[in-house]
Amino acid sequence: MSRVFNFSPGPAVLPLEVLEQAREDLPDWLGSGMSVMEVSHRSKAFLAVAEAAEGSLRELLDIGDDYAVLFLQGGATMQFALVPMNISRPGDSVDYLLTGSWSNKALKEAKLIRAVNVVADGADSNYTDVPDASTWSLNPEAAYFHYTPNETIGGVEIHEPPEVGEVPIVADMSSTILSRPIDVGRFGVIYAGAQKNVGPAGLTIVIIRRDLLDKAPADLPKIMRYKSQADSGSMLNTPPTFAWYLAGLVFDWLKRQGGLEAMGQANRRKAALLYKAIDESNFYSNPVAEAYRSWMNVPFVLADASLDADFLAKAEQSGLTNLKGHRSVGGMRASIYNAMPEEGVRTLIEFMADFERTNA
Ligand code: PMP
Repeated sequence: MSRVFNFSPGPAVLPLEVLEQAREDLPDWLGSGMSVMEVSHRSKAFLAVAEAAEGSLRELLDIGDDYAVLFLQGGATMQFALVPMNISRPGDSVDYLLTGSWSNKALKEAKLIRAVNVVADGADSNYTDVPDASTWSLNPEAAYFHYTPNETIGGVEIHEPPEVGEVPIVADMSSTILSRPIDVGRFGVIYAGAQKNVGPAGLTIVIIRRDLLDKAPADLPKIMRYKSQADSGSMLNTPPTFAWYLAGLVFDWLKRQGGLEAMGQANRRKAALLYKAIDESNFYSNPVAEAYRSWMNVPFVLADASLDADFLAKAEQSGLTNLKGHRSVGGMRASIYNAMPEEGVRTLIEFMADFERTNA
């Protein structure tokens, strides 16, 4: 078997140990003669898996009892709509900070539902920088403040939660959750599609301060209501059982790696190595302001874009896959989530140096 170094932005690389455990469990899970996919979500055995996964996530992120943890479907995109539907009421205004493609997508959905105040927009810098907080027009009456801590496409990351007074902070952590310790108490809602740092696509994690569960208008359908999901243990209907099980294996793997403190150090180191290599070369460049460079998604361009196709083909031949940048920005993007080992980053850097020597 040969595994490649997979730099996909998502669905993304998973730890090999997790895949091997899943392979072993698959035909005969816990001696049941069935796979985990073939049992009821309400069976004792599955409920134990679900509870253990939630427990591990709570332990990893140090989530207090004043927060509910939901395991939902519909992806982060569903949350773009469910957040305004649940955390604000007709007549409310909501705050959005724009830092790239994903925050703009979240804004578009919110606009269909509520009055929106754009706090600041990084468009002037072509989303390579975040407007200074002193220029933001925060609304102290906003029902919530939404931002995207890590813009997966532009590689722009806000490393500390912003100061927004008493307004609850809602964060789309799809591409940064579990990459380092965070202070959950700073947030009203955290949501994340699973397919980067958590597990397979099809699962969405929502962490919500319990007092916000009661904000939803009375006419919101049950399936869209965070409160009903929390009351039913995310089992209002059939949850994505296999993804939930696999997320539990990833959480256990994270604990074995030393938890989020260790993960954060490893991720910081990996990103620093790659940015250093890019900055020291005259052939590769990354446009993002240094303070906002992402630890998870590192976009870079070649000095000569006509070499892009050759770069990608040769990288692929060297076992370095999915490096093509998003179509909206072009160039390359290396996504270096938790499951990408430092060896993968070092191999990429060596490949980049070789390619530069032959083509510069
Ligand atoms: N937000 C961010 C930051 C993302 O990176 C993505 C997916 N790449 C999404 C939202 C959309 O997620 P989903 O496909 O799970 O709806």
